[in-house]
Amino acid sequence: MNDHHQDQDILVLATGNQHKQEEILAILNDLPVKILTLRDFPQAPVIEEDGLTCEENAIKKAQGIAKYTGHVTLADDTGLEVQALDGRPGVYAARYAGEHATYEDNCQKLLQELSGVTAGHRQARFLTVVSIANPQGKVDVTEGVLEGEITEAVQGTRGFGYDPVFWLPDLHKTLAEVSLEEKNTISHRAVALQKAKALLKTKWFSQIQSGRSAAQ
Ligand code: IMP
Repeated sequence: MNDHHQDQDILVLATGNQHKQEEILAILNDLPVKILTLRDFPQAPVIEEDGLTCEENAIKKAQGIAKYTGHVTLADDTGLEVQALDGRPGVYAARYAGEHATYEDNCQKLLQELSGVTAGHRQARFLTVVSIANPQGKVDVTEGVLEGEITEAVQGTRGFGYDPVFWLPDLHKTLAEVSLEEKNTISHRAVALQKAKALLKTKWFSQIQSGRSAAQ
């Protein structure tokens, strides 16, 4: 983060999650904008993720934080859809094992729910929706998907969330066994963010460079 940008060249990341922030910053760090996070806005309201879809939640977070900060804001929301569980936990991935569940609780609950489900029937996918919004209500949405399988036991120590139980058949590893760089070339969040980055460059911040505000 540096200070030589104009006031308008600011993008706020509407996430307080350290792991997600690292992944997002690694992808967006070469954008010609100053990137702020929720740490720069300690009084920002907590936006309740009560939408029925990841898209609803992502838009709600981006719009809410854009209104509060007065800056273009990017938010993401991720769901994990497990085929044998009819798409559960889906958008409720963070609270799967209860309101204050840890990542470990959620992974264990998923392994339990899938006990008895044989290899070959454990397909799952991550879906990330990224939303960009400004204080005036203008919104863009992008999506990324990562297909895989749920393992029968946790494996790997990197990453976060369901990474240790998410098997990548092509790489023969879980998401918790790949480096951040590797995760950021294949992941659901990376795919959605690359699309969002292209929009930010061509549609949102190109206007500033040509003399018009991104808020228009
Ligand atoms: P969020 O709504 O984007 O914060 O994601 C909801 C939950 O999905 C998180 O609490 C994590 O448990 C899980 N999750 C999100 N992204 C990832 C990921 O990249 N790997 C593993 N789990 C994830």
